[in-house]
Amino acid sequence: MSDGQYDVVIVGGGMVGAALACALGDSALKVAVVEGREPDLGWPREDYDIRVSAITRASQHLFENLGVWEGMCQRRVSAYTDMHVWDATGRGEIHFDSADIGEPDLGHIIENSVIQSVLLTRLAELENIDLLCPLSIESMEFDGRAYTLVAGDGRQLQARLLVGADGARSRVREQAGIAAKGWSYEQSAVVCTVTTAQSHRNTAWQRFMPSGPLAFLPLTENRSSIVWSTTPQQAEALLALDETAFCRALGEAFEFRLGEVTSTGPRGAFPLGLSHAEHYVQNGLALVGDAAHTIHPLAGQGVNLGLADAAALAEVLLEAHAARKDIGSLAVLRRYERWRRSENLAMMATMDGFKRLFSNNSAPLRWLRNLGLGLTNSLGPVKNSLMRQAMGLGMTQSRMTRRRRHG
Ligand SMILES: Cc1cc2nc3c(=O)[nH]c(=O)nc-3n(C[C@H](O)[C@H](O)[C@H](O)COP(=O)(O)OP(=O)(O)OC[C@H]3O[C@@H](n4cnc5c(N)ncnc54)[C@H](O)[C@@H]3O)c2cc1C
Repeated sequence: MSDGQYDVVIVGGGMVGAALACALGDSALKVAVVEGREPDLGWPREDYDIRVSAITRASQHLFENLGVWEGMCQRRVSAYTDMHVWDATGRGEIHFDSADIGEPDLGHIIENSVIQSVLLTRLAELENIDLLCPLSIESMEFDGRAYTLVAGDGRQLQARLLVGADGARSRVREQAGIAAKGWSYEQSAVVCTVTTAQSHRNTAWQRFMPSGPLAFLPLTENRSSIVWSTTPQQAEALLALDETAFCRALGEAFEFRLGEVTSTGPRGAFPLGLSHAEHYVQNGLALVGDAAHTIHPLAGQGVNLGLADAAALAEVLLEAHAARKDIGSLAVLRRYERWRRSENLAMMATMDGFKRLFSNNSAPLRWLRNLGLGLTNSLGPVKNSLMRQAMGLGMTQSRMTRRRRHG
């Protein structure tokens, strides 16, 4: 396929764009994925990616159905069976245990580079997909029927459907003139891999402080990936500390629940905000993943929502194509938008509510949330329902996010 004519061009080969392309694999659609950055596909790797994702059961099912789950397990995934959440300003605590709902685990912590590289390796095996990488899209134009995209090297690509999977600062969304509403949380998340004196006991830990939540996500052995959301000023100060001082500050902020923090890898910080595109689709165009929505990482749902977008869009496109409908038409694309927009909005509103509830230091709210945590902890059915929601099992499933049936 060197003529540059495609049914679908996906701009962005991150976790969401690459998953969408895999979901369109082995179909009659000609697809190109354009990724600006050369990924490191090499394995084994000693060092840990500082970016990790808590992958829900629904996303695991998608990876199983795409035939990439095993490849991820062969590299590095860490199951977590329990989750423990508590409030720094009171005695409220809540503990989730996967055994209570008859599940082997609550989800898996996986490095983003592991997810992306396994998906991109799979893409290379699919005959109807071209992976154009490293290549960056510089401009796009729609003539009412197809998009013409001009890449950084002057190459032109034509697409009946252009998909923006190019992340939070999506140029596809911007050039299509689709506004995104939202706000900054005036917080940054400091992330890194640490080791602790005690085992994490395959538990995801989260302590809510007025300045923001601090999460310890279990990796192999005594390693955890931390996400410390705090003011931009404190984040900057934390990045500037030497290793001993950082380990001490981190241990204190975490009440030494896993003993001393004994070492840390490289640190990075990411600004946090909420944004939601006013539309996910236009004639000939669709947005997926962070290009359409970003949320606070406190419940680790961002990429899971994006993967659900990818599965839903693939299902809508494959059905439309089989029924000989125009895959770029608004009538087809609106089905995807209706499906995913309301689900994403519900999750975004819940996470924003949590963020505000836990970062408020007023005495009545502190009392209320500690009472709420204690009460929820004692109410089995409510807790079990929360666990299922967090595992992505409460949303409308696409065929690809359902558990694979064997035999
Ligand atoms: C601190 C932190 C912790 C998080 N933890 C979790 C978690 O535990 N669980 C969870 O579900 N989510 C989590 N998230 C959210 C998650 O990281 C994002 O939702 C996810 O990375 C979005 O994936 P994406 O593929 O949509 O976008 P991206 O990962 O941003 O990928 C976009 C891709 O597009 C490429 N690109 C951009 N522009 C162009 C162009 N013009 N031409 C070609 N290519 C282009 C980029 O190179 C990139 O590869 C977290 C986020 C943060 C900040």
